Amino acid sequence: MRRYRPKVVETFSPEERLRIEAKKAAQKTFWEQSGTPHFAPENGVCDYCERQIYQDLGVSLNDAKKLVTGCPLCHRSFCD
Ligand SMILES: [Zn+2]
Repeated sequence: MRRYRPKVVETFSPEERLRIEAKKAAQKTFWEQSGTPHFAPENGVCDYCERQIYQDLGVSLNDAKKLVTGCPLCHRSFCD
């Protein structure tokens, strides 16, 4: 696992931050219920592009209720 170096600083509105947390929680619930490996980074920050995958431009709430296996922003797979 690559170490997170905060090169990219993204700022989100309080509303978007709430949506990000809701999606993170949805993905965590999915992991707990399905017993699948955790592919997506727990803090939601992509190892490759260092952007927040659960932001509005990224994973949707519906997608966060299924297994997230790649970054929607740089299209890299978390499974490698
Ligand atoms: Zn990425």
